[in-house]
Amino acid sequence: MTRPRTALVIGAGIAGPAVAMALQKAGIEPVVYEAHPSGADDLGVFLTLGSNGVHALRVLDAAEPVLALGFPTPGVTLRNHRGRRLGSSRIGVPLADGTTSQTLRRADLYRVLREIAVARGVRFEYGRRLVAAHDTGDAVHAEFADGSETYGDVLVGCDGINSTVRTIIDPAAPAPTYTGLVGTGGYARGVAVDVEPGSYEMVFGRRAFFGYALEPGGEVWWFANLPRPHEPARSELEATTESRWREELESAFAADRGPLLPLVRATPRLLGTGPIHSMPHLPLWHRGRMVVVGDASHAPSPTSGQGASLAVEDAVVLARCLRDLPDPVAALREFEQARRPRVERIIAQAARVNNAKAPGPVGRVVRDAMLPLVLRLTADSKALRESYGYRVEWAAPATTAGFGGGA
Ligand SMILES: Cc1cc2nc3c(=O)[nH]c(=O)nc-3n(C[C@H](O)[C@H](O)[C@H](O)COP(=O)(O)OP(=O)(O)OC[C@H]3O[C@@H](n4cnc5c(N)ncnc54)[C@H](O)[C@@H]3O)c2cc1C
Repeated sequence: MTRPRTALVIGAGIAGPAVAMALQKAGIEPVVYEAHPSGADDLGVFLTLGSNGVHALRVLDAAEPVLALGFPTPGVTLRNHRGRRLGSSRIGVPLADGTTSQTLRRADLYRVLREIAVARGVRFEYGRRLVAAHDTGDAVHAEFADGSETYGDVLVGCDGINSTVRTIIDPAAPAPTYTGLVGTGGYARGVAVDVEPGSYEMVFGRRAFFGYALEPGGEVWWFANLPRPHEPARSELEATTESRWREELESAFAADRGPLLPLVRATPRLLGTGPIHSMPHLPLWHRGRMVVVGDASHAPSPTSGQGASLAVEDAVVLARCLRDLPDPVAALREFEQARRPRVERIIAQAARVNNAKAPGPVGRVVRDAMLPLVLRLTADSKALRESYGYRVEWAAPATTAGFGGGA
């Protein structure tokens, strides 16, 4: 086997540009194929890039333009529906220079990663939706919805939670799991909130969950998770107007204290409305010269605050494997072995938190009583250090024994 020289990178979300930059660093020439015709203008609301994700971007020399678009969000205060403080927790383990987790608009992150990659000479082709691919033994042949086709030495599926590459690798791959929550959010101005910029407030409401943070410019960025036991069908979602979503939010948060409803009302447009999914366990991450990374292989629910960070870590580790192991098939196997335990642990942690977001009345009492204690015990917990204190390495050789990073 010869070391791959070219890669077909499918998807230009977060993993795609990161994988392209990492492969370039490993001496492999990537081309990124994105289904959408242009940039990511209106994608969801905002996200938190963990301190581990900031570190991974630094490995790719791509962190500083990203940091310029975000604001530090080092911690979170949790409250119940009466406004009672249940406790607080860190959501980052600062890097050596003090940089911690950052919150930024999702569309900004997509855009800036693409811009950095383009400035480094990475080719992006838009309007190219992958529909089929097969491993020829010494290459991968990819076919697109517009009838075009191409070849590469490896194919990396960065095509998100509804990945096509995943089902090409394994037609029996499980579908994403519905978390039992629907979500939305937005940006509000002109509402006074009694919080420090960058400190998240998370409210376990009577019927639903609400989170918000004050951005240094005075805007309040918020999201809401509403329990809905049955996943709404696509037709139902399409028929749900913005005013219907607003009615649901009004009713869900009517009995809760805090600025929740004023924030919803001061928001000109709701964003990212829809059901929330995760991909907790995918049996096959790779086959031959094809592999899936990021949400395509392991989507945590948004509760984890780790999806984007894990995608960038994946990029670094994947490129390292392909750099160090001449046989691409062995390199993809090595990649999976290095990454699976970490990502599945984080996904399982997030699933446990999701359950706390929608308890019944009895569960609520138990949660409110236990959470302060749990938070005190976990303030500097192993889980926190494992998630946010992890530092992926570029230099380490790609052998299973020496893999990963250090917390
Ligand atoms: C509401 C919400 C809030 C979130 N909050 C956070 C958070 O706070 N912190 C965090 O870290 N993560 C968060 N996440 C998760 C995070 O957004 C994802 O983990 C991250 O976007 C994964 O990146 P990705 O590149 O793997 O997939 P995506 O960002 O989904 O990108 C996939 C790309 O592939 C393209 N594509 C799809 N199919 C094809 C095809 N067949 N051919 C070509 N291109 C294709 C898509 O158009 C898209 O551009 C949140 C997610 C949601 C939904």
